[in-house]
Amino acid sequence: MAETPMMQQYKAIKRQHADAILFFRLGDFYEMFFDDAITASKTLEITLTSRDSENKIPMCGVPYHAVDAYIAKMVAKGYKVALCDQIGDPKATKGIVKREVTRVITPGTVMESQLLQEKNNNYIASIFFDSDGTGLAYADISTGEFMVSEIDSQSAITDLISELERLQVSELLLPVAFKDDEMLVNQLYQRITKAITFYHNGAYEIDEALKYLQQQFPDQANEINWQRQPKCLAAAGALVQFLLETQRRSLNHIIQLKYYSISQFMALDMNARRNLELTRTIMDGNKKGSLLWVLDHTTTAMGGRLLKKWIEQPLLDINQINARLDAVSQLSAGIFLREDLRVLLKQVYDLERLTAKVVYGSANARDLLALKNSLFHIPDIKKLLLECTAPLLKEIANQMDTLTDLVTLLTESINDDPPISLRDGGLINNGYNEQVDKLKEASTNGRNWLAQLETRERERTGIKSLKIRYNKVFGYYIEVTKSNLDMVPEDYQRKQTLANAERYITSELKKYEDLILGAQEKLIELEYRIFIEIRDMVAKEIARIQKTAGAVAKIDVLISLAEVAVKHNYVRPTINDSGKLTISAGRHPVVETMLNQTQFVPNDTQLDTGGSYLALITGPNMGGKSTYQRQVALITLMAQIGSFVPAASAEIGIVDRIFARVGAADDLASGHSTFMVEMQECNNALRGATTKSLVIIDELGRGTSNLEGMAIAQAVIEYLHNTIGCRTLFSTHYHELAELESSLPGLKNYAAAVEEKGDNVAFLHRIVLGKASKSYGVHCAMLAGLPDMIINRANQLSTDYQRYLKAAEEVVSTSGQTAVALEPNAQLQLFNDASNNEQQEILSAITDIDLLNTTPLGAIQLLFELQNKIKNLYR
Ligand code: ATP
Repeated sequence: MAETPMMQQYKAIKRQHADAILFFRLGDFYEMFFDDAITASKTLEITLTSRDSENKIPMCGVPYHAVDAYIAKMVAKGYKVALCDQIGDPKATKGIVKREVTRVITPGTVMESQLLQEKNNNYIASIFFDSDGTGLAYADISTGEFMVSEIDSQSAITDLISELERLQVSELLLPVAFKDDEMLVNQLYQRITKAITFYHNGAYEIDEALKYLQQQFPDQANEINWQRQPKCLAAAGALVQFLLETQRRSLNHIIQLKYYSISQFMALDMNARRNLELTRTIMDGNKKGSLLWVLDHTTTAMGGRLLKKWIEQPLLDINQINARLDAVSQLSAGIFLREDLRVLLKQVYDLERLTAKVVYGSANARDLLALKNSLFHIPDIKKLLLECTAPLLKEIANQMDTLTDLVTLLTESINDDPPISLRDGGLINNGYNEQVDKLKEASTNGRNWLAQLETRERERTGIKSLKIRYNKVFGYYIEVTKSNLDMVPEDYQRKQTLANAERYITSELKKYEDLILGAQEKLIELEYRIFIEIRDMVAKEIARIQKTAGAVAKIDVLISLAEVAVKHNYVRPTINDSGKLTISAGRHPVVETMLNQTQFVPNDTQLDTGGSYLALITGPNMGGKSTYQRQVALITLMAQIGSFVPAASAEIGIVDRIFARVGAADDLASGHSTFMVEMQECNNALRGATTKSLVIIDELGRGTSNLEGMAIAQAVIEYLHNTIGCRTLFSTHYHELAELESSLPGLKNYAAAVEEKGDNVAFLHRIVLGKASKSYGVHCAMLAGLPDMIINRANQLSTDYQRYLKAAEEVVSTSGQTAVALEPNAQLQLFNDASNNEQQEILSAITDIDLLNTTPLGAIQLLFELQNKIKNLYR
């Protein structure tokens, strides 16, 4: 059978949007056909039917007024949706009505509030790189933010991926040319997002990219320097083109392209961010249990989003940090100031997203009211801040535009209780527009007249229950119940018969109906037009509103930091360039908040690049080693975002990077075993660290044999100590490594203290000077509830092993050979027979090792070879 014109139209449009689910407007529904219908019916849990009884085309549909919720569901599941609407008036069109895709909604380009989380940005990122460098551009179209950065460090791709991970991008744009790089695409797919869009290569070329950038950011034409930033501009140009193509409207709320460099901030690679649980926990990815959870007392959505950025981008500049600390200091001292500001901020809605909606053309009258009610409080906030002494608070005040002109406009024009829809009237205030007032009067008078007519007709006919009513199909009518039909006068014309009543019209009623409905229709149309004019007027002030929104976000974050400081008894840290980390009575901000009844045990820290800078921490399982290490990293990081810290006092010499290798995790997706991941993380730390870095290694080398593991751990400690010389906290269950204290002057031993009374073991969670002798692993296993049989057997075996080791040591020492000592300094005496060539060969193989240039994997290989030689020697 021949295809209908509608189906031909559908197919033509679908061909252009093959990768999206096409929502095709048909009357009051958006319909989907063919495979789209099958996918959508499953995803949206709606019934699959079929169109065209002969060809049985699969079909399903959703009502147009509820389409947002369905789009949200599709996009949340990772699909793209192309929304195809009827263009022009169907009544006025002869033949098939024209249809066009009006918007493509992808995970990174949603504006629907159902899909956006208040305190999270929704980023779409675009990347580009070649052998010279790497460029990144990202945007949040729900707030208007647009950032670009060129990453040209030695590990550019790793840094780029780490940056994408920080941003938690919802969608990523790549040139089609990158599609063949399976390893890269796989990594991005696993680590960043499943929503990867391959975009045409031409978009990244200089002429094309510049054209779009200059069109989107006309005020910055001079700043856009292709020679200086070719990579990020290519990425940015493609991103602008993609956004315009999917949104199909001008994006005037994206007004500024901002450059930044990752070197402005403390470097935190993805392991550090994840392992320190900065914004979500490792276990379940939730905010609860993260540093952000403790620090977030923001009252506005903008503040919430900014705090997250601050936590993930600690500062390096001492003056900037101190400026924030001064502000937090004043706000934490001023209870009333803080409270007054919080009360005002609570009434400020999400200015960034509201303005984006205004410019985007999706804001309704309630949104404009929310904007007005928010802006109304800005002058009071500004006034309070101008009275402050901290320079940053004054600076924020000066960034605030009181926007009183907009508040006046919106107060005068927008009705205080408008409906959600813009097509139902009730938008504009009395007195704002003469024509609106006149039409309102006409429609109100008409209604009064109807009320009088009803009374008159009841009197005339004697029908007490006679009613004048309205519905959309018949307009106004007179309703008479069946029992009164004999009293109906002759001039009533019957319109409709119901089970219990008849409906009539009269010529008089018809005349007034035309008048009332005519006035109402005109009023609705006029109110809509005026509303759009007002919305456009507000849209023109976007730059002023965005600047004010930015200032509101900053003050909200600073108040939040002050609030937490007071609530949890934090102190102001001293920030300098000393190379020291001196913390007295430090606490872990999250663990102390989580521990309800139990008291958190504070601990001191003293690291100094000019003295003891490497703390080797031994001690029992459950002793508090991990908590302690993370607490030092978190206190350092908090200080550098400008927060007070959980300690009695703290001196923080600026840290340029934090590396945190903690625990064991597989990365099976990229084909890496637990041990391999551990080695890679360690490699990242060793290659990226500088003297100013803080390295945290919580156990190393546990995933392989004891001897190899310990050898790697020792080699790494020596490298950190001798070659890098950075502040390091290294915890280990290889208690033998404590011997290194005697040969490495910058290393000090610490232990997690234990109290043993008979069979009772108490973990004190106190980190003290000295080394531990036991791990209490079996005791921990017992606490975990392992069966008694296993615990008893493990205790027995543990005693046997210890006895065996002791005996072996004695045998070796009495046989004339030095023990295969675990003490590092003793190892070179292993071969003391100068006449034995094989022994000497092994000896020189060991002494020739260029430790400083040996990678962890290289070390494993070397050990393997040496082990084989030794086995041969004693065979
Ligand atoms: P393992 O060697 O088994 O990894 P660990 O020494 O790293 O153990 P942690 O994981 O740091 O031990 O601590 C174990 C538990 O002890 C924590 O979950 C916490 O509840 C508690 N704890 C740690 N430090 C403290 C402290 N300073 N004060 C109070 N409780 C603490």
